[in-house]
Amino acid sequence: MKKDGANSSRGPAAPAHIAALTPYQPGKPIEEVERELGLRDSIKLASNENPLGPSKLALQALERTLGNLHRYPDGGAVALTDRLARSHSVDPCQVILGNGSNEIIELIARTFVDPNGEVVMSADGFLIYHLVTQAAGARSVRVPPQGYCHDLDAMAAAINDSTRVVFIASPNNPTGTIIDRQTWKRFLAQVPPEILVVVDHAYIEYVDDAEHPDPLEDLGAYPDKHPGVVVLRTFSKIFGLAGLRVGYGVGGAEVIGAMARVRQPFNVNLPAQAAALAALDDSDHIERSCALARAGRARYRVACERLGLKFVESHANFVLVEVGRGAEVTEALLHRGVIVRPMDVYGMPDKIRITFGTEEEDERCLAALEAVLLERES
Ligand code: PMP
Repeated sequence: MKKDGANSSRGPAAPAHIAALTPYQPGKPIEEVERELGLRDSIKLASNENPLGPSKLALQALERTLGNLHRYPDGGAVALTDRLARSHSVDPCQVILGNGSNEIIELIARTFVDPNGEVVMSADGFLIYHLVTQAAGARSVRVPPQGYCHDLDAMAAAINDSTRVVFIASPNNPTGTIIDRQTWKRFLAQVPPEILVVVDHAYIEYVDDAEHPDPLEDLGAYPDKHPGVVVLRTFSKIFGLAGLRVGYGVGGAEVIGAMARVRQPFNVNLPAQAAALAALDDSDHIERSCALARAGRARYRVACERLGLKFVESHANFVLVEVGRGAEVTEALLHRGVIVRPMDVYGMPDKIRITFGTEEEDERCLAALEAVLLERES
């Protein structure tokens, strides 16, 4: 075939809905920031990671796998899947593992969302929901939040015949807010059974509020009651294994089975499977991580009140703070070796999101923030 046509030099073009995608911008690695700015001893409080690092039990388990790296991992991740199923009192066929819970979010879109479909989410919900919807050629219905909370009643009202999936994050990233049991029950009662309801619990281990609903409890006891509910969890946050990429979904057997047909074999690597399994046993690490986030919430509450800064009451390991020009404050903090996240992409240019660190890191961040804000005033 002749290849010298006017268009051939441009090569293949992605369809319009892919060309229109704005890729997710993750927090920059410390090494990259330090190289760019000539800094040392920076602290990264930009990706909601665990400042305590991984659990020692996880590291030991990971090391034991290193001699076997020439082998493929267990494609069904049986040991980890069985362990998770047992701890949530569900059948193993109700559990699916992913390369981070991001992969499960993407699998959900690839499995259940067609180009004519709609996906309902909160306008300030985790951005990946919007991205996977766009990538599927479908339409995001971004429902305005109430205050900084998901407006579940409005989200239920936004469901129509084209709706395929509803995404709910609790705690939500970047707001740190949660849904409550009563609103959740009212929401569920309004949702038709053919709609997939995804409850993203990436930060659930940090929640202290007894009124926070956990549909996983119901899934175990009444597996057929809400066959369209899928709960997502991750090893990236409290378990401190973000670099290994392990997350999972728990839901009705049919929904999970459909996703399993789309999933790539070996999507969770060998060291990741072993480390995640061991991390589940490290209750001391989990408790210390929780305590640190609780202390962080208290520390930032006191400091923000002292500095006269508005903030959103958080139930997770990070806090959204109103600082004026968020991107400029982020840049000024960067030059002081403190990496936080500007919120422009979430339509909140006056805010930054700060992940809680160790006590020392929190104090350093707060001192830098105070100095930057003083500098801007003068
Ligand atoms: N859901 C929420 C709400 C998140 O904040 C994140 C991480 N930023 C994820 C899911 C994805 O986490 P991972 O892919 O690391 O499991």
